[in-house]
Amino acid sequence: MSFDEMDVDTIWMDGEFVPWDEADVHVLSHGLHYGTGVFEGVRCYDTDKGPAIFRWEEHLDRLYESAKPYELDIPYTREELTEATMELIQRQELQSCYIRPIAFYGYEMLGLNPSECPEQVAIAAWPWGAYLGEEALEEGIDVAVSSWRKHSSSQIPTNSKTTGAYVNSVLASLEAKRNDYVEAIVLNKEGNVAEGPGENIFLVRDGEIYTTGLAESILDGITRRSAIQIAEDLGYTVHDEATISRGELYTADELFFTGTAAEVTPITSVDDTVIGSGTKGPVTDALQTKFFEIVEEQPTEYEDWFTPVEM
Ligand code: PMP
Repeated sequence: MSFDEMDVDTIWMDGEFVPWDEADVHVLSHGLHYGTGVFEGVRCYDTDKGPAIFRWEEHLDRLYESAKPYELDIPYTREELTEATMELIQRQELQSCYIRPIAFYGYEMLGLNPSECPEQVAIAAWPWGAYLGEEALEEGIDVAVSSWRKHSSSQIPTNSKTTGAYVNSVLASLEAKRNDYVEAIVLNKEGNVAEGPGENIFLVRDGEIYTTGLAESILDGITRRSAIQIAEDLGYTVHDEATISRGELYTADELFFTGTAAEVTPITSVDDTVIGSGTKGPVTDALQTKFFEIVEEQPTEYEDWFTPVEM
């Protein structure tokens, strides 16, 4: 669905609420030319206890941390960004939505050193359903190992959600779609499994759960952390610093992606090789069911994962 088809009209930009169509930047902005920005993707769920932002504090932590390597000082406090986001949701009456905060170097000059450029910040929110489709959540998806490798964390810090770095994800996504797959799996420079273009990956073998470690050039996904916690709470053994070889993908009992957009999505084939039974596996099902129960019900045990929005 395009933005034009959505019932949204306001963006918070550099301290003010502006009409959606007027949230512009200069064409010579540093961030546009060199990708010197950092961003977040967050979901607000319409829970039984009212709209609530899922793991907002963790997303804020990651936004400020992402900015650090670029010496980008976000000129707003956590409280200011929180207040802006709340009001943005209230003004547009969004019961559930996807939230996109972005901070980037703006317009001043185009030398590579951005220190003279102003730090700009914007937040948008819009309705966004299942990223890979409702059917994907039930039936699972066909994925392919990309011919593009993930850049190593020694080249571009992969624990920073840097705008420019996403060309890697775009290349992998384009290739997957061109070849009729729903999504890609990207290997790291060593040739081991890293993640999806916008998802972390989990593998199930003999009832235990494995996910690639932070040293494998992945983003420290917040849904990844949530899935690890949920799995442990359900009594599973989770190996969260795993190195997963390409070969292990094909022989896994189950595979699934996690991400703010993708939530918990089963993977049913890799490079046309059927994974396990070729349907959503029992461990994936247990975890996915619990995940959706949590974001729908906002249960007391997981209350600290939510920031309520007063409507
Ligand atoms: N890896 C990459 C490259 C991503 O872009 C994302 C989406 N932010 C993820 C993993 C999943 O992270 P999260 O669960 O925090 O959305």
